[in-house]
Amino acid sequence: MTCPACTAAERNPRADEFANGCLSCQARAMAVTRADLLEDYQGAAQRLFGDKFKEGHALVKQWLAKVKQRRFT
Ligand SMILES: [Zn+2]
Repeated sequence: MTCPACTAAERNPRADEFANGCLSCQARAMAVTRADLLEDYQGAAQRLFGDKFKEGHALVKQWLAKVKQRRFT
């Protein structure tokens, strides 16, 4: 992970701190808001990540796994 906000989120994936311009933060924001459940997730991710779609999507999956581990009950 690439920035202080992401490092903090490694310990607490629900931390709602997001750094501007950080791909991993953008991916984390999508994971936390469960954007993956959107019918138009592909489109949303493509608009958000642009030509970094593959990289971003991989990060979304990583963060989703972490968020699910700590999900609210
Ligand atoms: Zn970040």
